[in-house]
Amino acid sequence: MTKENSTYIIKTYGCQMNEHDSERISYILESLGYTQTEDLMSADLIIYNTCIIRENAELKIYGHLGSMKSLKEKKPELIIAVCGCMMEIEEAREVIRKTYRHVDIVFGTKNISSLPYLITQHLMANERVIDTEAVDDIDNLQKAVRKSDVSAYINIIYGCDNFCSYCIVPYTRGRESSRSAQSILEEVRGLVSQGFKEITLLGQNVNSYGKDLHPCSSFSKLLMELDRLEGLERVRFMTSHPKDFSDELIEAIRQGEKVCEHIHLPLQSGSTRILKEMNRKYTAEEYSQIIEKLRESIPNIAITTDIIVGFPGESDEDFEQTIEMVEKIGFDQAFLFKYSKRTGTRAATMEEQIPEEVKSQRFQRILDRINDICYEKNQHYLDSIQEVLVEGYSKGNKDMLTGRTRTNKIVHFPKGSVQVGELVSLKITGFNSFALEGEMI
Ligand code: SF4
Repeated sequence: MTKENSTYIIKTYGCQMNEHDSERISYILESLGYTQTEDLMSADLIIYNTCIIRENAELKIYGHLGSMKSLKEKKPELIIAVCGCMMEIEEAREVIRKTYRHVDIVFGTKNISSLPYLITQHLMANERVIDTEAVDDIDNLQKAVRKSDVSAYINIIYGCDNFCSYCIVPYTRGRESSRSAQSILEEVRGLVSQGFKEITLLGQNVNSYGKDLHPCSSFSKLLMELDRLEGLERVRFMTSHPKDFSDELIEAIRQGEKVCEHIHLPLQSGSTRILKEMNRKYTAEEYSQIIEKLRESIPNIAITTDIIVGFPGESDEDFEQTIEMVEKIGFDQAFLFKYSKRTGTRAATMEEQIPEEVKSQRFQRILDRINDICYEKNQHYLDSIQEVLVEGYSKGNKDMLTGRTRTNKIVHFPKGSVQVGELVSLKITGFNSFALEGEMI
């Protein structure tokens, strides 16, 4: 049904799970005979894989779709499709249905495997198709055109049952659903046989893995099974939730030779009062205790986090507690976000919404503190020897390669005779708040 030499482009927004969904969509399209292009204007099929975690992500999509109207008028045979978390929200679908009539296909996060059928339906009937019915079999979604030949994303659990009061994800990704360990191990064996060295296990909350399986399993158990896989060099995972961070998991990370010494553990706020309003289900003290246990068990572990500033009702005192926590823990990196009201979430209806300028002041103040701390943390790497997995060329410099340490630090170094995909030992010769520099030893 696809025209000879048809091309496609996918514009991906949001998290690693969306990036991996786009890799899966690429596989489906290339199986239909499409080839990828980077040129938006010449593509025969344009897909927007959307994110709705914050307002600006949503507005950005409407902006892009608006700019596509004139292109569609010039190229009526062009197919424009929209998928991802935004399309799981009825209100957003209605906006597309009413305002963006040049969008031909709408699908969701749980029916990516329907795409071939949706394209055929659109072309046969020459009508727009809107379908988000969940049909994907999560144990059979492995096929993907991966962006890297070295490191691969692996979905292990879909959805989230936590309902943090500010978060829209449980409404777009649904209830937690774990893949079978067998299908995960099979996928990883396949990737290792293709030469992949590293995997990153993905989930909104990987620590919940296996609770819904019969018989029940656990994330620690899965990590240990992966750690025994021949040929695999490194195992990473994200995102963890502090409420499910057990001693058993800390022990699995300590014992697992392939499990990298880096944990991404969202704190969100240093104020226990705000954490309660966020429905995060842990206190600031409990979070600190997890970090202490991790550092006792795995001394060189790197800790990164997510922090929201300006959550409804956040007082100056609450914010000071977040700053104190940042200083007390000393994160290796932190991703900062200004609270963004999401329709349908409990926090969106809360009183005491914080003014934008206050959010911006708090954001800037904590960003400056974080950058100083990251600079100090990276300074400790100077003159050390680090094992680095080479991932590719440094942006804009073909004589420099880039890779990551086991602690997830980015390192740039002169290429010499090194190849992408190699595990090399580098001496760290330079640093700033965001990355390290190194040289082969
Ligand atoms: S754990 Fe909370 S913040 Fe993370 S995806 Fe689930 S509801 Fe959202």
